[in-house]
Amino acid sequence: MKKEIGVTSEIDGYCTKCKLVTNHRVVAMDEGVVKRVVCLTCGGQHNFHLPPGQKATTEKKVKRVKKEERRVPGPESQTLLQWQELKDRLTPETPASPYALSGSFVLGEAIDHHKFGLGFVTKVIDSKKIMVMFEKEIKTMVMNFPDVASLPTPAPEAEYSASNPA
Ligand SMILES: [Zn+2]
Repeated sequence: MKKEIGVTSEIDGYCTKCKLVTNHRVVAMDEGVVKRVVCLTCGGQHNFHLPPGQKATTEKKVKRVKKEERRVPGPESQTLLQWQELKDRLTPETPASPYALSGSFVLGEAIDHHKFGLGFVTKVIDSKKIMVMFEKEIKTMVMNFPDVASLPTPAPEAEYSASNPA
């Protein structure tokens, strides 16, 4: 049989007079919750206090979750921060250059990619490759691509001009 606490039960509690965890006798209950107790050591009557360190089952103390726990930015958010910073520095006088394979870009240059959006050249790897920081990721992009002009372009006009050369 489970031991139930009621009036006259003896329970451990923190005595505000003894300033110790002592044996107490319950003198008042409220809906199953111990309210007032008499300390069996000093005889003082006071509200019931749980022994320190014991979890309160009657008092719902909601621990506040610290929002600062996730303060350390991961590599991804760091990229985003830098990207935002660079974006903020963009002025109408220095607009982003449209990205093209045949284009030539310099370190720190803002480029506008048709798919990835706004990016910034964070590193010039060699004469044909650059590292570009986009909003979501850093990508290696091609530049100074020499043969881009000779690549077959599926331009609709090409069909019209494909008449028989006499
Ligand atoms: Zn006491």
